[in-house]
Amino acid sequence: MTDSAYPQPTVTATNAPLIEGWRRGELMMQHCVRCHSVIFFPRHICPGCWSTELEWKRSSGHGRIVSYSHVYSQVAAPFAAEAPTILAEITLDDGGAMLARVISSEPATIASGMPVELVPMPEAARFPLPTFRPVK
Ligand SMILES: [Zn+2]
Repeated sequence: MTDSAYPQPTVTATNAPLIEGWRRGELMMQHCVRCHSVIFFPRHICPGCWSTELEWKRSSGHGRIVSYSHVYSQVAAPFAAEAPTILAEITLDDGGAMLARVISSEPATIASGMPVELVPMPEAARFPLPTFRPVK
């Protein structure tokens, strides 16, 4: 559990390894056993080959920003209080890509191609989903 006021994700059988991994400060990514695709968001079937043989592997959590957006309009009060928030597409060094929030004390310095890493524990416990920060 976190002590933040952020909306919390609904845990399902399909996304539980991702959510529960993040609560330990780990990024768990779904992999297809048949075609080796790295899958995000969690699904019960591979979008590449339709196999149901999926497994979870821990990612290093290191990657790069592909593209990003500064979001000023929010629907939830905790995010509105922190606007603008940065949402980014991130390619992970060990495979896969995902959309995630990037935290930075200098949001104007965020750029495509910038290396990022997972926010470490205990700070990570504040965020309900995997969250990244620029590599210093
Ligand atoms: Zn597949």
